Amino acid sequence: MDKKYVVIVQCHIVHERCPGYFCERSFHFREGAFKDLPADNGIRMLSLTCGGCCGRAVQRKLSLLLRKIEQKEGVTRDQVQVRLASCISKDNYHGPCCPHLDYLKDIIGRLKLDVALDTVISRKSEERRQAGCYAAPKSAPAPSPF
Ligand code: SF4
Ligand code: SF4
Repeated sequence: MDKKYVVIVQCHIVHERCPGYFCERSFHFREGAFKDLPADNGIRMLSLTCGGCCGRAVQRKLSLLLRKIEQKEGVTRDQVQVRLASCISKDNYHGPCCPHLDYLKDIIGRLKLDVALDTVISRKSEERRQAGCYAAPKSAPAPSPF
């Protein structure tokens, strides 16, 4: 991958609790969604949140970042990959995947940025997804008040 920057976008709501360590760790040790990234290519990583539902703020955050890294270091948008963190792209312990996932992909794509899904891939969470543990319970609908 001929990239100089990976920008991880985290769910703003999840970020109220999660410092993003497991995303950073996956990047650092080239695990999960980063397993194919060369270990010693000097690629940098930066993380930010979507800014809260519906995620529209991410467009402004990324626009400013693109402007600054080009001004300061000559890094161009084709050298940047945006990764939507697994708490956005997958059902997980924190809750279902982001209801605005397609919107996020669309607004980031409009900046002509390469956008990819997933960061940390937890073995336990994968097992739970396979087993349907994160699916909504099939309860009877609430009785109509009418
Ligand atoms: S993927 Fe996990 S570690 Fe990364 S920001 Fe989301 S909850 Fe935190
Ligand atoms: S738009 Fe999605 S990723 Fe952003 S805060 Fe809302 S649920 Fe989380």
